[in-house]
Amino acid sequence: MTAGALVLVGTPIGNLGDLPPRAAEALRTAAAICCEDTRRTGRLVELAGMGRRDGQPLIRLDDHTEAARIAEVVERVGRGERVVVVSDAGMPGIADPGERLVRAVAEAGLTVEVVPGPSAAVTALVASGLPTGRFAFEGFLPRKGEARADRLAELSTETRTVVFYESPHRLARTLTDLAAVCGPDRPAAVGRELTKLHEEVRRGSLAELVEWASAGEPRGEIVVVLAPAPPGAPATSEEVVAAVAKARDEGLSARDAAARVAAELGVPRRVAYDAALGLPR
Ligand code: SAM
Repeated sequence: MTAGALVLVGTPIGNLGDLPPRAAEALRTAAAICCEDTRRTGRLVELAGMGRRDGQPLIRLDDHTEAARIAEVVERVGRGERVVVVSDAGMPGIADPGERLVRAVAEAGLTVEVVPGPSAAVTALVASGLPTGRFAFEGFLPRKGEARADRLAELSTETRTVVFYESPHRLARTLTDLAAVCGPDRPAAVGRELTKLHEEVRRGSLAELVEWASAGEPRGEIVVVLAPAPPGAPATSEEVVAAVAKARDEGLSARDAAARVAAELGVPRRVAYDAALGLPR
């Protein structure tokens, strides 16, 4: 009997040719497969020519069911089963279920293995042409309200390349919001339908990307990559006040003006925000 393990298996993000032999083998020999969509994973197993064995259950795992499945999976691994975890596409645990299962299995003193595969975030990052030495992955950005404004402001001063997922119908709006806080000249890239027939990587300034995305809603799956905030020469307080005043005159809120000036001049956001609050309004 093979020793029990939770095995996280990366699956293609579009091109089925990206299913490596070790992933196929893990799927073929698993005692059970945890997946988000049993039909989709069933199809993947069929398409990859593996065919499911009798009695090899597909256990449905999504953000809502992950917690409820933990006891069953830990029990299976504990009795010596190899339980595979896949998501609909890419690496499980990356903006997908998996993290809690890994923690529970590891805390039970059991083995966790990974069969690495593609992830849209890393694929877009390396295709972007932007710095890859240090990067921050943001999953999906908050959709609205203060949480979104705060996150955008935070990203504007991030000194690592930022990678995040976005839906096509929110892309133009998000790029516009980013241009407001980072300045229109910040380089960025959009990876669309990566590894698929209509794969596209668009590189340009935020202003150029806004223009492209607004001209007609880009279709398909999207990753946004944002260049790091430029290292600013130390700015004088007069320069900060003048830049904040200019941004406010352009109609930006105190928060957005502070984020933009912080990114452009390389000063802490708090300093720019204090300057914004100090202005007559
Ligand atoms: N676990 C996956 C991974 O490792 O890439 C990500 C899952 S997340 C729920 C799905 C999002 O990833 C999509 O909404 C899209 O933003 C991005 N994505 C997935 N496949 C993609 C592709 N082929 N091209 C561009 N983006 C993709």
